[in-house]
Formats: sequence, C-alpha cells, structure tokens
Amino acid sequence: MADSAILSVTMLGAGQEVGRSCCVLQYRGKTLVCDTGVHPAHNGMASLPFIDDLDWSSVDAILITHFHLDHAAALTYITEKTNFKDGKGKVYMTHPTKALHKFMMQDFVRTRRANFVKCPHSSASSDALFSPLDMQMSLASIIAVSAHQLITVCPGVSFIPYHAGHVLGACMFLIDIAGLKILYTGDYSREEDRHLIKAELPPIRPDVLVVESTYGVHTGESREEKEHRFTSLVHSIIRRGGHVLLPTFALGRAQELLLILDDYWKKHPDLHNVPVYYASGLARKCMAVYQTYIHTMNANIRSRFARRDNPFVFKHISNVPQTRGWEKKIADGPPCVVLASPGFMQVGPSRELFEHWCPDARNGLIITGYSIEGTPARDIMTEPEEFTTLKGATIPRRISVDEISFSAHVDYAQNSEFIEQVRAQHVVLVHGEATGMGRLRAAMQSRFKEKDEDVKIHTPRNLETLNLSFRGERVAKAIGTLADSPPQTGDIVSGLLVAKDYSYTLLDPRDLRDFAGLTTCAVTQRQRIVLGVGWDLVRWHLEGMFGNVEEGMDKDGVPTMRVMGVVDVKLTGEHELTLEWESSSSSDMIADSTLALIAGIDKSPASVKRACFIFSLWRYQFVLIYTMVQPRQKTKNFKCCSDISIYRVIISINLVTSQPHTHEHLPLQKHKHPHADAEGELSSMTRVQRLAMFLEAHFGEVEFHQPDEEGNRSMDSEEGERSDDEEASLLVRLDEADARIGLISLTVMSSNEALKRRVEAVLDMAVTTVSTLSEAFSSGVAVTGDDAGLTRESIVEDKGEEEKAKEPIEMPTEEVPKGMEEDSNVTTEVVAVSEGQSSEQ
Ligand SMILES: [Zn+2]
Ligand SMILES: [Zn+2]
Repeated sequence: MADSAILSVTMLGAGQEVGRSCCVLQYRGKTLVCDTGVHPAHNGMASLPFIDDLDWSSVDAILITHFHLDHAAALTYITEKTNFKDGKGKVYMTHPTKALHKFMMQDFVRTRRANFVKCPHSSASSDALFSPLDMQMSLASIIAVSAHQLITVCPGVSFIPYHAGHVLGACMFLIDIAGLKILYTGDYSREEDRHLIKAELPPIRPDVLVVESTYGVHTGESREEKEHRFTSLVHSIIRRGGHVLLPTFALGRAQELLLILDDYWKKHPDLHNVPVYYASGLARKCMAVYQTYIHTMNANIRSRFARRDNPFVFKHISNVPQTRGWEKKIADGPPCVVLASPGFMQVGPSRELFEHWCPDARNGLIITGYSIEGTPARDIMTEPEEFTTLKGATIPRRISVDEISFSAHVDYAQNSEFIEQVRAQHVVLVHGEATGMGRLRAAMQSRFKEKDEDVKIHTPRNLETLNLSFRGERVAKAIGTLADSPPQTGDIVSGLLVAKDYSYTLLDPRDLRDFAGLTTCAVTQRQRIVLGVGWDLVRWHLEGMFGNVEEGMDKDGVPTMRVMGVVDVKLTGEHELTLEWESSSSSDMIADSTLALIAGIDKSPASVKRACFIFSLWRYQFVLIYTMVQPRQKTKNFKCCSDISIYRVIISINLVTSQPHTHEHLPLQKHKHPHADAEGELSSMTRVQRLAMFLEAHFGEVEFHQPDEEGNRSMDSEEGERSDDEEASLLVRLDEADARIGLISLTVMSSNEALKRRVEAVLDMAVTTVSTLSEAFSSGVAVTGDDAGLTRESIVEDKGEEEKAKEPIEMPTEEVPKGMEEDSNVTTEVVAVSEGQSSEQ
C-alpha cells in the first residue's frame, strides 16, 4: 500500500449522508484528510466522524474547506485527543475560515454546554469532547492560506485552494499527491449571491473529483424568483400582524439574508417601523471578520465598499437587547422579523422563539437553509399538528412553515454542469442523502453515456473504502546531454536516474549539477580508536596483515600509515588512533579489516611479547650507546679510546640492522646517504624482531646478544655470557641446552645436536615465513633478493617517539673533543634519518 498506484478514498463521515464531513485520501504512502465535521443531529462522541478507523499520526495534512460545523467542528477533538499530534500532520484553512472557525468553535462549546443543561437526557459526554484549552491549542496549530496559493505539504504533496462560493472563506482544494490530482469541492455554490463570488472551475483537469451532492437531482428556482418569493412572504406575514422567524446559522447565510432584507426595507418605507432583529452575539462578533475580508467578496460588495458604503453596516437591522429573557419580550411585542440561531432549532434563541410563536397562526417560520435529517428544523417541515417543547410539553402548531433555500449549495443543474466541466475520470459523490445521491448518480451516468464518455461515478458509504487504480507506469524524462539526439528504437539509453518528489529524470552524470542541482562529493570517513599500545606495534600488526605500509606525516604533521594505499591510520593522540578514508565499497572493506585488526591488538598475546621484546632491544641500544660515551668523560686515555668508542656505537647499530648476507664490516660511508636506498625496503629491525617472535613462539623467551668486542659484556644477558664470535645473535634456551643463531650468517651453534637441528629447521621456516609475510601484500616497491632488508634507518624507525628523542639529547655534544666531531655527527645523523624519512612520505 505504501507506494502503490491505488488511490483509496474512505469516508469517515458524509458518506451517503449530510453532516460530519471527513474524507480520507491515501495514495503512494501519503494521507490527506479533507474536512473534519460533526453531525448536527447527534451529540457528543456520536457526532464525530468514524475517527477510530484512521491512524491519525500517519496523516500528512488536514484541509478544512469552510467554517461550518459539519466540516470543521471535529478538528479540535482530532488534533488534541487523537494521536494526530504524534505525527507530522499539518492543518490548513483559508484566513477567513480560520478567523470564523474560532468564533464558531467558541459558540459550539457554549451551546453544547447549554444543550447539556437544558436536555439532561442527552449524553454526559456531549460537553466533554474537549476543553476550551484544547480549542486554543488546536486553533494555534492551524496554518492559514490564501486562495490560489500553491501550498506544498511535504515532498510530493501539494494543493491549491480555489474559491467555492457557499460562505465567506469557503474553498475547494485541488490536491496533487505524487502527480495524481484530486479536486475536493466541499460545499460549493455556482451562483453569485449578494456578497460572494461563485465557485471557480480549476484550470487543471483532475483525475478524481470528490463533489458534494446535497440537493441531488433537485433544481431550485432562480435567484430573482427566490428573493422575490422570500421578501413577499416576509412582507405578507408582517401585514397579517405576525412575527417572522428565520432560524439561521449565525454566520454565512445570515449575512446574505440581512443584505437582502436591508435592501428590501430601504425600498419599502412602510416597513421602517418594523424592526429586523439579528439575534446573535456571535454574528455581531464576526461582522468584523466580514468587514475585514471584503476584498475576497464579489464585485458588488467591493464597489459599494469603494464608495464608502459599507454593505455590512446595516441601516435597518437592529441587534436584540442584551438582557435576559429578551426572547419573551420580543415574542410578546409587535410584529417583527428575527434572524435567530441555530439554524436547526435544536436549542437556543431560534428554538425558544419558535416555541413562543408556534401556536399563533399569524406568525410565520421560513426555513432558509438546508435542514439536516433528524433536526427539529427538518421535522417541522412536515407541518405536524403538534410540537413537543424542550420542557416536554405538547403545543399546537399553527405557525406557517415555508422553505425558501438560500443554502448556497449547488442544485442539480449547477452540479451536473460543473461535474461535466471538470471532466475527471472518477467522480465521488459525498455530502448527500442516499436517495438523492443515487438519483444524481443515475442521472449523471446517463448524461455521460449519451456523450459516450467513460466516467465512473461512485457513492461510497461511510467506512466503505473506494480503491481507484491508476496506471502505475512511471515516466522518466531524459534531459541534458542525453536528450541531445533522440534515441532510435532499440537504443539503450543509460544515465543517472534522479527521483525527486515522485518524478523521475534520466541524465548524464556530468549534467547532474546543471539540471538536478545536485553535486557529487567524496565522503571522508573517520573512525577514532582508543588504544593502549604503541605506534610501532600497530605498524607491526598492519604489516603482518597488509604487507608494507606507507608511513609518513599527513599535511597536519600527524604520523600516518597508509594501508593498501587507501586507508590512513593516524596517530592523533597519545592513546588515540584515527582511521581516515574516502568512502567506497572497497575502501570501506579495507577500513573494516584494518579496524578489526587494530581493535584486536590489545588482546593479542603476541603484542605483549612483542612489546617486551622491543623494549629490551631499545634498552640494549641505549645502554650500549650510553656506555660507549661514558669513557670520554671518565678515562684518562680519553682521546685514544674515544674514537674507538664512537666507532663501536656505529658498528653496534649496524650490527642489529645490517643485512645478514652482505655484511662483514659495514663501511661508515654508507651512513652518509641515509635516504639512498631506504624506500620500499623492509626494516631490518623488523625482520630481526619477526625472526625473534617466530623463535619465541617455538622455544619460549629469546635473548638478543650483541657481538662481544673488547671484553664488553652482553647487554641484555644477566650472566654476562660471551658470544662465540663477533656476530649479533639470538640465544634460544630449551631446558639445560641452548642454541645461538648468528643474525648475519644465519647459522646455528649449539652443543646439543638435537636442539641445533630443531632450531635450524625452525630458522629455515622462519626465514621463509618472515620474508613472505611482509612481502606478500606489499603495495610499495618490491623487496629485491639479496638487497632485501637491512638499512640503518630502521633502528630509529622502530623506536617509540619518546626513546627516539631521549638518547641523542643526552649526548654531551659540547664535550666532544676535537677530531671526534665528524663521527659524533654520524651518530646524530641516525636520529636525523628517521625524522627526515618520516616527513618525506
Ligand atoms: Zn457548508
Ligand atoms: Zn456541509
């Protein structure tokens, strides 16, 4: 249902009846409600439309055609007492309707209360529908609109109000839901009366017309005849010494009748001593609204107003005295004309006056509006012999009863003409009694048949959902470059399909900005991770998974590693990493796996070992360098050994970093061009570390040993064990036996043959694994054969930030004796290498 091309029309009221108008339109997931009225013949909850049959929170908009109670009075209940508030629905009506609706509702609450007091038999809930506060809240939520204004409710839903005649502010709505057009007329009049312009014919042909059918196939008399009959009747009742009672609603037709009477009195001086009373405080209040909205009325009113002749300042109309019991005073007084509300005479002044005048044959009652079934105004039209008063007494009816309708609904002639002119595919008849509606349908069907037009006419009952299907085809318009040359049959047109508010456009991606107002953009994703391990450990894991990662600084100077060339891992804080990548399906995938990997580092047991191992390596290097520097300050033969010491520092560093197969005595000159062959080569330290990790996995803890030169002790060996040659080595212990692996020659020495063979086998495996692991996914420069591996920059590269900074600073460079400077510079340069290298990427 959400996006189907079926329009469903459900009447929650006014389906084969007049009263409680409430029409629900649902199409393509949108819901609009036209009118929310009460039924004048019922009280309390019973007067409401069948509101329980709709989820009001799903309603996008409520459109109110005019202020009449049978179209608007249930609004407060719906906005304040249902789940309408939970949704995003809006309420619309025209400015004059909003102004008059306020007064109507105040009066509605007041008269319902009065009704309750006077009729104790009526349901107690009648006056508890809503409170005055609810009414205020509801009024505040109404959006006032003007005729001919295009209002967009939400994407895909819009409407335009058109004048409907009928009463001040009344309009019909031309609704557009996802391209489907529905005209909902509400009550309308095609006859220009004394103050309103007649209903307009919208300029667009709608698909569906929802139209009132109050008068069915009844055609009324002409305006002139009607007015003449009315004024003559009033005059004759006065002449026979009677009172004229015109039950009317305070607003709407009353103003029209007053205009007619005021005009007639002006032309008949003999009537000037006969008062015309207008018994409605409400109408008095609303006169200001009528005077305000003169510009929306017809030419007659506007031109009179232009001549400073305000038509709503009546010369011959008096308001009734504002004293208690005025009805009795007027009833017992001389002949007069009284317009009194309500129009249906259920309670209030019109009812009271009627009961006073009912038994006297000189008096006359003229019903001027449409009387809804079940109301006293309708019952009296059968001219019964007796009438029951509100107090339950039976009185004779001798008053004359006439009906001259000024109700401003279309009659058959006007309605059928309008229906034909609108030319909708489907016509839905509402706001009419079943019989009249059935006759109208039959009459219209035969008219369309004569003209050979296929128009479907529907008369849904309340809650009987009418489903109208429309061709579900959707058209995409090709525009821009795609439309340059019309495609031939069989051509395949491809482009971007842009769907907006239920319309589709096909265009070339390059035209996107010009035609759709859209721009393409790259989405940069960022993910922050709090991590308690070091930067180098992250690298170690990333390289293990993805191979060589590019490393450097981003434009803000943040250390960054780039995984697979797309995902940047940035060290944005002490314990914080940020992943950053341009979103795409493949990059997202790499980012996901990077994230999973990093998130798992903390938990990996290898990380713990790795961290210890690296730490011991660093400690080894620092202690070494520090020790080498000490003799300069302490020993007497300072000069002669200082050179050797510094040289040894260099050698030491190179030992742990140099390539196993090529190194014998690493020439110092190589340090002079630290960047020379650094790129793309794997860190030698990384290799040694991996090798150590591998061995650790098999044999438990592995010790790192420096070459034992000039009697220096092995730095990380507590026992001070001497190595067998000058090669850096890893020492593996198993039970009582141990094996030494030379890191340059990659040979294994052990007194235990079994252990030796086992370590050799593991070393073999390790050498293969370590190199393939790092190179398998390498996205940078391939590591080549024998040159692979050791470059001196890796020492510092593998140091943590803190350690990197500490060591060179501690060196007492100012004390370096002459002749040493060159060499000490070389040492310092090692640090500089790492910095230079980092910033370069
Ligand atoms: Zn109406
Ligand atoms: Zn109505």
